Order: sequence, then C-alpha cells, then structure tokens
Amino acid sequence: MVHIVGAGPGAEDLITVRGLRLLQQADVVIYAGSLVNPGLLKETKAGCQILDSAKMTLEEVVWAIVQAEEKGLMTVRLHTGDPCLYGAVREQMDALKARKIPYEVCPGVSSFCGAAASLKMEYTLPGISQSVVLTRMEGRTKVPDRESIRSFAAHQATMVIFLSAGLLKDLEKELLAGGYASGTPAAIVYKATWPEEKLCRCTVGQLAATGEREGITKTALIIVGAAVAQEGYVRSKLYDPGFDTGFRKAEY
Ligand code: SAH
Repeated sequence: MVHIVGAGPGAEDLITVRGLRLLQQADVVIYAGSLVNPGLLKETKAGCQILDSAKMTLEEVVWAIVQAEEKGLMTVRLHTGDPCLYGAVREQMDALKARKIPYEVCPGVSSFCGAAASLKMEYTLPGISQSVVLTRMEGRTKVPDRESIRSFAAHQATMVIFLSAGLLKDLEKELLAGGYASGTPAAIVYKATWPEEKLCRCTVGQLAATGEREGITKTALIIVGAAVAQEGYVRSKLYDPGFDTGFRKAEY
C-alpha cells in the first residue's frame, strides 16, 4: 500500500494528524527533499528506509515502491504542501494503477495557505476580490497560452504565483501588461512557515527590485491584487446582525 501524503508548507507541525500517523507507520518514505522539511523524518520508525526523490527519476521512485510492495511494506510518498498542486502526482498514480498497486492520497496544507497565514491575510475580501488564481510563469513546463499571467491579470482578482521567484522581472512585466496598476499591492513570501521565512510587502511595480534586494530566487510565492492591502473591504453578510442565515435569525 502506498500513501501519497502532503507534508504541509514547511513547519514540522503543519502536517495533518493523519499524515503524521502514516509517516510514523511507514516502512519506506520517499520524500521531496528539495522542499519537504527534513525534520519530519525524525517521526519515522526505527529501520524505516528513507529516500530523497529530489535525486530520483519517476522510474526510480516507482521501482522503489514496487520493491517495497513485493516485501509487503507500506510506503509514504511525501510531497510538499498539498500533492494536488504542481506535485507531479498524476504520473505516479497512473504508474501505480498500471501495476495494480493500491494507493490513497492524504491532503496537506498548501504553501498558498501557509503564506496567507503568515501574512495574516484573507484572499477573498468582500468588495475587493472573491476569486483566487493559483498559477505560475512558464518555465521548462509549458503553460497553455489561454492561461497566461497577462490574461489572468485582466481579472484583477487575487493571484498567487508559484514556481516563479526566479522570473520576477518577466512576471512584473506580464502583470503590468495585463492591467494591474504599478501601485497594486503585492507580497513575496519566501519559505512560508519555515524558521527562515521572509515576508516582503511591496507593489507590482516593485516586485523585481524587491526580490533582488532580498536575494530571493526560489521557494517563494508571489501574491498580488488589491486584497493584499487588506483594506477597503465591506463586512461579510455571514456575521452581519441584520441578516438571517440558515443557523441564525437576524437581530433586526
Ligand atoms: N504542492 C506544493 C507546491 C509545489 S511547487 C504546495 O501545495 O505548496 C513548488 C513551489 O511552491 C515553489 O517553487 C514555491 O513557489 C512554492 N512553495 C512551496 N513551499 C513554499 C513555502 N513554504 N513558501 C513559499 N513558497 C513555497
């Protein structure tokens, strides 16, 4: 049996209770060494085999899992954040399916949630933005043309940009070309929830200069949109004394 587990954004205690239990029971752990906090590995039991997938190909990961399965062992495949975002998990799940190896997925706290917590931010502020675009700049992995940063920028929604800290100059250009004003609030969050976390608040027009000044080229999220300022919003209806909800009668 294989458990694909989200390790959370960084801090060791931000893995889920279920994920931690699975990690403690695992006979084999294959972890994404580039981003998973190695401190989590001390939760594994004595004799657990630990492999760093940062140094492995998909074929090697699958081979390690097949070996474990043949011995009747339980494998945890530990991914950063939540496995559903930029986790390259589909290809693994398909490889397991093809070999009739059963697997389950345990969610994790994505870095975009960790970053919001660190910024003490609500992405969806009434009156400001009610949508969050999770996206990335094109790198070696192609992004479909219809999903360009420029086209999303036209919506002026809250945007969280992954995998792009090394491309801040181009990102800034694309955001401006798409319609964000240069003064639109933005933040670069480096290693959210890790001890070495850095929160850099700036504007869209200052993204590249801020990244350069702070020496940030990887493991960061770029968050842009009017919501980053956390001002000028309207109160929620949910907690408004003047509104009925399914759980509460209006007070007036
Ligand atoms: N599945 C992961 C994302 C993996 S892609 C998740 O749910 O978070 C790797 C990218 O995620 C990094 O390049 C960076 O943009 C972002 N990332 C991962 N952990 C991060 C953290 N603690 N702080 C800021 N960005 C992070």
